[in-house]
Amino acid sequence: MQRGVSYQKLLDGLQQRTWNLPFYRQQNTIASGGRHSFAITGHRFTQNETINFDDAEKACQSKTTLELLRSSLILNACSVETFVKHNYKILSWTRRLMGRSVFNAMMRPTVYKQFVGGDDFTSFQETVSRLQTVGVRPLVMVTLEEDVKDDGPDADQLFDRNLKIMKDCMEMTAALGSQNPMMQIKPSGLFPLALCKSVSAEIPFPSSEPEVVEKIANSMETSKEVTKLGNLSTIEIAQLNKALNRIKQICKVAMERKLMILVDAEYTYLNPCLNLLALAMMLHCNGSEPLVTNTYQNYLKETPNILLKDIELAQTHGVTFGAKLVRGAYIYKERALASEKGYPDPVCETFEKTTKNYNRSMDIMMEKVAKHPGKFCVTIASHNEDTVKRGTNKMAKLGIPRSSDQTVIFAQSYGMSDFISLSLGQAGYMTYKSIPYGTIDEALPYLSRRLNENSSILGGVRRERKIIHAALGRRLFSFN
Ligand SMILES: Cc1cc2nc3c(=O)[nH]c(=O)nc-3n(C[C@H](O)[C@H](O)[C@H](O)COP(=O)(O)OP(=O)(O)OC[C@H]3O[C@@H](n4cnc5c(N)ncnc54)[C@H](O)[C@@H]3O)c2cc1C
Repeated sequence: MQRGVSYQKLLDGLQQRTWNLPFYRQQNTIASGGRHSFAITGHRFTQNETINFDDAEKACQSKTTLELLRSSLILNACSVETFVKHNYKILSWTRRLMGRSVFNAMMRPTVYKQFVGGDDFTSFQETVSRLQTVGVRPLVMVTLEEDVKDDGPDADQLFDRNLKIMKDCMEMTAALGSQNPMMQIKPSGLFPLALCKSVSAEIPFPSSEPEVVEKIANSMETSKEVTKLGNLSTIEIAQLNKALNRIKQICKVAMERKLMILVDAEYTYLNPCLNLLALAMMLHCNGSEPLVTNTYQNYLKETPNILLKDIELAQTHGVTFGAKLVRGAYIYKERALASEKGYPDPVCETFEKTTKNYNRSMDIMMEKVAKHPGKFCVTIASHNEDTVKRGTNKMAKLGIPRSSDQTVIFAQSYGMSDFISLSLGQAGYMTYKSIPYGTIDEALPYLSRRLNENSSILGGVRRERKIIHAALGRRLFSFN
């Protein structure tokens, strides 16, 4: 309930402050400045300049010394294994011991400020505008309540509330005035988890059953209810129709506001259903613009093959296609589940094999972007420096312009790998930060995951620490 209130606060703030928008539009026009050349902080970039992640001062220039000290402190905490492993329990216990207000007073200037964009319109807009001045755009993230019962008599109320949160957040994102605003969504918050599992079991490879994708897309298009899907029960079919109605409303806002939506991927036992919905949403929304993007987790062995099949389906239907490429966030749970249930591990055996998969997916998408301008859009969502460099090199090799909207996008999480995002943004690549909006209480599970994720990208964290320390050293100890 509290969440509803804070979104309302945000929207109220927005309505009062629409006079501010031309200023942001103006800033964005400067930051993106046309299709093939652009100017940020007075510098004009050309296609051939090589991206440089080594310039500590440049990468940290938008941060105050205090912010750099905070980042350094948090990154150090992320290297303490016991803290990272038990961080959610430690944070929850500390909150109980200290009381909510003392705990929040401690969290707000530290972990919360590092990873969350804000919990009211003013603070969120400040975050966004600060990033925009260094050429980085917002990819707004909804943090829905987690671990809530979704199968009782009140379940529909929960899904309708989640729908409202998502739609409000979409309106807010569109109103921020950023060029090509984007939002990350989890459709699994709109219907029961059990239904998501059942659909996934019934339709394990959606693009191999195009008639099913067409049926779902047709229902979104015409509001005609689905009457049968595999062996789903009558109750499940009714739940599915309610889910499609909610998703249709998300699509409507996306189309009206020209807002790109990126559908998140989750666990393998849920992904086929999410994949089916994302493909149907593409058939419904992606006319001449890739408004809907699906996520491809490249730690899964089969991902590049699924990506190829999905592309084929989109091309057959003559719609644009969007792919967000990630390595994948649920490696430990996926491995544990496979071993517990006795099925083959779906995750690549090694990090190198995951990277090989990632590179293959990146090549598939980049070649499509180069060959069919405007028809494909790829988001390289990674904190890995080598992956990002490989992406920029591949773009140069294929002649893909850096500043071309909706073709190749780079994205990192807010508060993580800032040296990569800021360097990319300043060099004129389409760069986004995934920024959550919410209060400390709402964001706690998310914050816990970020601390965990920081430890899982240890190479990147070590590098980021080094860059921050170098910048701090220069600022604090240089007498020039
Ligand atoms: C904008 C954005 C959106 C995202 N959306 C999603 C999403 O929808 N779904 C999702 O799952 N994740 C998502 N993520 C999280 C993403 O998957 C993580 O950032 C990623 O897991 C970390 O990978 P990296 O390339 O950033 O860093 P790296 O340090 O290069 O990679 C670490 C990752 O490599 C893989 N890995 C590590 N060790 C091994 C091993 N031994 N064997 C095989 N693989 C290994 C794991 O996936 C691990 O997380 C998103 C991230 C961003 C920035």
